[in-house]
Order: sequence, then C-alpha cells, then structure tokens
Amino acid sequence: MPVITATKTPMSTMAADERARTFDEVNLGYGATKALVEADRCLQCQEPTCEGGCPVNVPIREVIKLISNSKFSDAITLLKTANSLPGVCGRVCPQEKQCEGECHLGERFRPVAIGYLERFLADWERINGAQETVLGAHKETKVAIVGSGPSGLTAAGDLARMGYTVTVFEALHEAGGVLRYGIPEFRLPKEILNNEIDAIKALGVELRCNIIIGKTLTLDQLMNEMAYQAVFIGTGAGLPRFMNIPGENLSGVYSANEFLTRINLMGAYRFPDYDTPVKTGRKVAVVGAGNTAMDAARCAVRAGAEEVTVVYRRSQTEMTAREEEYHHAIEEGVKFRWLTNPTAVLGDESGWVKGLECQQMELGEPGPDGRRSPVAVEGSSFVLEINTMILSIGNSPNPLVPRTTPGLKTTRWGGVIADDDGLTSREGVYAGGDIVTGAATVILAAGAGKRAAAAIHEYLEGKKKS
Ligand code: FAD
Ligand code: SF4
Repeated sequence: MPVITATKTPMSTMAADERARTFDEVNLGYGATKALVEADRCLQCQEPTCEGGCPVNVPIREVIKLISNSKFSDAITLLKTANSLPGVCGRVCPQEKQCEGECHLGERFRPVAIGYLERFLADWERINGAQETVLGAHKETKVAIVGSGPSGLTAAGDLARMGYTVTVFEALHEAGGVLRYGIPEFRLPKEILNNEIDAIKALGVELRCNIIIGKTLTLDQLMNEMAYQAVFIGTGAGLPRFMNIPGENLSGVYSANEFLTRINLMGAYRFPDYDTPVKTGRKVAVVGAGNTAMDAARCAVRAGAEEVTVVYRRSQTEMTAREEEYHHAIEEGVKFRWLTNPTAVLGDESGWVKGLECQQMELGEPGPDGRRSPVAVEGSSFVLEINTMILSIGNSPNPLVPRTTPGLKTTRWGGVIADDDGLTSREGVYAGGDIVTGAATVILAAGAGKRAAAAIHEYLEGKKKS
C-alpha cells in the first residue's frame, strides 16, 4: 500500500553560504532510506500517466515498484534499457514539466520525486558496481556519430547494444557536449558524466575526440572513403547569439558559452592550476533568464564576483529556467532585474566594460507563441554599473556540418531538417537533438538519439536484405 504524504521526501542540499564559494555539487542525493520512503508514495497507477511525459519512455511505474521492493539492481537495469544517461538526467532533466508534471499524485499533492529516484539508482549503481549489459550479436557494419552530446551518446549506446561497430567523432578534446562544457560541476559533477560515458565506451563504442566533421573530415568522406553505412548528426546548437547593440565588442563582454566553457571545460575555476583564466569583475550582469543564464550567474558568484544581476526583458513568469535553479540562484545571492532590456554596453578609456545602459519594459499583448511581448517604457533609460557582461540570449545550430554536406537540407534558421525518426534529406544520414530542434533539453536530445538509433537499425537491416 502506498504511504501518501503531501510533499516529496526532501533531498538535502549544501548550505547556501557554504556553496557560494565552491563548485562542489549542491544537491546531495537520496540514500536508500529516503528512496524507499519516496517510492512508497507511488500509487502504482493502472494508467501510469508519468510514463507518457517521458521522452525516452522509461517504464517508471515498474522501476519505482522495484525500488519499493529494495530491488535496486533490477531497477537500474530496467531504467537503463530506456535511458543510457540516468545519472545525468536524474540531475538536470526538467521533470516538473515532464514525468512529474504528468504524475497522478500531482493532481492533489506534490508528484512522486521521479527525478530524485532516478538519480538515486544511478548513484547506487556507481557505488555498488555496474551490472553486465546484454549485447546483440556483433555486426561489422559501421555507424558514425557526429557529436558526443546526449543525442550522440544515446544513439551510440543504443546502436552498440544492437551490435553495430560505432565511432563517435567529437570536435572538442573531451566528450559530453553541453553536459561537459555548459552545465557546471555544482549541478552535474564531471565524475557522474565520465561514469556514464565510460559505460557507453564499455559497450564497445570508439570515441575519437579532436575531429571536426566538416574540417578534419567531411561527412561524405566518412560514408564514401571510411565505409560508414549510416551517420547520425548530433552537433547541437552551440553558436551563441548576440544582441547587436553598441559596445558588445568591449573587453569584459562574454557569451555565456565562452564564459562557461572557460570555467567547465578549460578549468578556469582552478586557475592557476589550469592556464585558461576567466576574468570576472566585481559587478556582473547576465542577460537572459534560461538555464544557461542561471548557470552563468551562479558560476560568476563562485568565481568571486561581489554582485551578480540577471537582467531580463520579460517578467519572472516568462523566465525559462528551471524553478530549482532559480531558487538556488536567489539563495546564493544572485539579484534579478525583470522587465529590463540592455540597449548599449558602455566602456572606459581602456576599452573595458564599465556600465550597461538599459531601458525599462512593460508587457504588451501576447505574441503568436502565447508569450506577452515586452514593450519599451518611454524615457525610462538608466545605467547599471558593471565590469563584466555575460550574454545568454540563446544559441543557434552549429553550421559546419550542414555547410559542408551537399544535399543536406536545413531550415531558414540553420537547423537540419529531419523527420520524427531523424531521417534527413540524405540517404543513410540521420540527425537529432538541438541541431534539429534548436536549443532544447537533454532528454529531448536523448529521445531523438534513441529514435534515430532504432531507425538506423531498420534502415541497415533493409539494406542488407535488398
Ligand atoms: P550538444 O550537447 O550541444 O552536443 C553537441 C556536440 O557536438 C558537442 O560536443 C560539440 O562539440 C560537437 N560538435 C559540434 N560540431 C561538431 C563537428 N562539426 N564535428 C564534431 N563534433 C561536433 N537541458 C536540460 O534538460 N536541463 C538543464 O539543466 C540544461 N541546462 C543547460 C545549461 C546550459 C549552460 C546549456 C548551454 C544548455 C542546457 N540545457 C539543459 C540544454 C541541453 O544541454 C541541450 O539541449 C543538449 O545538450 C543538446 O544535446 P545535443 O546532443 O543535441 O548537443
Ligand atoms: Fe506513480 Fe505518479 Fe506514475 Fe502513478 S503517475 S505510477 S503515482 S509516478
């Protein structure tokens, strides 16, 4: 019988004053006792609506039942049949909008903490030793994956489990995509990511870093000269957008991508042990209010800034960051200026940022997407004193592969056009994740990688028969 409490079993977090100066993980996870208590809140519904909210179709009800029966090993094995990245997804998925958003219990109380339970299982397996994975019969057929973000890693893992010979080509010197260079250590420790990448490599996936498809090799070379029978493109949306306002080229202006990459991938937070510093002034403005903006703001706090302000042209209601990240940012001292739109960056005589000219906004009528558009309030300009500005107003798809692959059709905004299974306009070439959808989420990218892997298998089976 479920034991219904109105609230989720809380997860401990590091105290806000302690964590603001360390990159250690903020959320501390469940132990077995808490996991059992939370699993007992599940109603074991006849129709588990939670599962419909999961883009990779995790059999959530069954996984929770196994946890309830203390069968943790069986539970993680079952979970991993659907999701190759449970430790990552348990930490960074917006469950409140997905599985937990659809949970029946949520109609009266707080939903089951499905994300916390997923994280618990991944951590339990890491500590207690991974289970053997059953692999399909080995096939000589080669499949290339371009990009090692969640879409590419998921596609690689699924294809390797089916027995294919899989190589992942990654432009950077380390794998993981945004999980490596974007999401900071205090939300997703590298140890967790490394563990999940190692598990995918253990399936036989070859990982080749420092290879830029479109420069080092072209996609056509992979298919015509290197005998890859199918290719999955998961190159993401890593091209930062700028505002095109005066002063954006001043020293002290970063894109969030550059700022976070310096910190996460190049180890700036451990300067001088690592030799790529990040210069964070006393007063930092972060423009934008998505997950990336929260990460940049919270990194700036940890990198030593005295005052960090998030500047957003809409109101808090339109903010796209996860609630949890927003609350953690507030607890860590980040300030928010809603309905504020930067119009110019001001510099001193040596070319460094010294201020941000802004205009006050108000919300107008809803646009075609249902969101109310910000409208400038006349005569409301003011200057915010800052030394560093971090722009986090969105990213565009990485253009290199589409530009160097004849016949690969793209949208007007540069995304690769692919159907639901990931098939592009080129035979044998599949794509998924942010390069298709534009900047989205880890689990949507993973889901796209999963569907594409199944479609690639079907395509290669068909080719064998013909
Ligand atoms: P990516 O993760 O972008 O990976 C693409 C990979 O392809 C990269 O490693 C790149 O180097 C490589 N590549 C690119 N071009 C080439 C080439 N020509 N040759 C070889 N390799 C190439 N989502 C959430 O669900 N929860 C969060 O909390 C969250 N936080 C985020 C925080 C930040 C700072 C950012 C930027 C995004 C966040 N997201 C979050 C979004 C999420 O990370 C992305 O939607 C997801 O990573 C997209 O996965 P992907 O596989 O499509 O691409
Ligand atoms: Fe359990 Fe909620 Fe899923 Fe029902 S909808 S099975 S309560 S997690």
